Amino acid sequence: ARQFFVGGNFKMSVFYPSTLKKGSKEALVNGTIQSIKEIIENLNNAKIDENVAREHLRSGIEVAAQNVFNKPNGAFTGEISVSQLKDSGITWALLGHSERRTILSESDDFVASKAKAALDGGLGVILCCGESLEQREAGKTIEVVTSQLKAVADAIGKDWSKVVIAYEPIWAIGTGKVASTEQAQEVHKAIREWLKKEVSEEAAEKTRIIYGGSVNEKNCGELTKQEDIDGFLVGGASLKPAFVDIINAKS
Ligand code: 13P
Repeated sequence: ARQFFVGGNFKMSVFYPSTLKKGSKEALVNGTIQSIKEIIENLNNAKIDENVAREHLRSGIEVAAQNVFNKPNGAFTGEISVSQLKDSGITWALLGHSERRTILSESDDFVASKAKAALDGGLGVILCCGESLEQREAGKTIEVVTSQLKAVADAIGKDWSKVVIAYEPIWAIGTGKVASTEQAQEVHKAIREWLKKEVSEEAAEKTRIIYGGSVNEKNCGELTKQEDIDGFLVGGASLKPAFVDIINAKS
């Protein structure tokens, strides 16, 4: 069985410490030491199911970077390398998030080259894919998602053992509009079929395919019941204490 996998994507979001009300002016931009400290304390003190992997913070909770560059070193101001991440105890890289594809114009091939660099350097990769509303309405969802994945397959080959695929429909990110269980399961299933056909039976069986887009403690339960949903990538709700309920959704 595939081990349940839940990622919190803190982005650069505004964070409200437990002592502050939502909307208050003293809110912190996430990533400050205080905000991370509070989130870590919450996770470390939480009752998390035995089945859930843990290592770094308390064992099995690991840290992912939100990006990594595709070159090992050199004059690339502002970029961060795989070895720099590893040196800081970071074991995963989140790649291909739609915010980077759209706002930072990252192409499928660029994302793929970064995935290759990360895997070659020993990091795990959380690889995001997903369609826009326009693409969905044009009936192109599976085509878009599989072409994003194909670029990565062309770069990394057949070993997907350190890849977690995150399906994140763009129209569901930060909108409060979660994909229905049927919509999510349909795409997850198509991704698994694609893996079977284009990578290997083993990759299809073992690769975790997680869902992201307005996941919260209320809607996660139904989604976990779907055969091909192996966890979540959570934005806004990962900054709240209820993130623990999402981590424990499968137990
Ligand atoms: P939300 O959970 O805030 O919709 O964000 C999802 C996301 O982008 C995770 O990577």
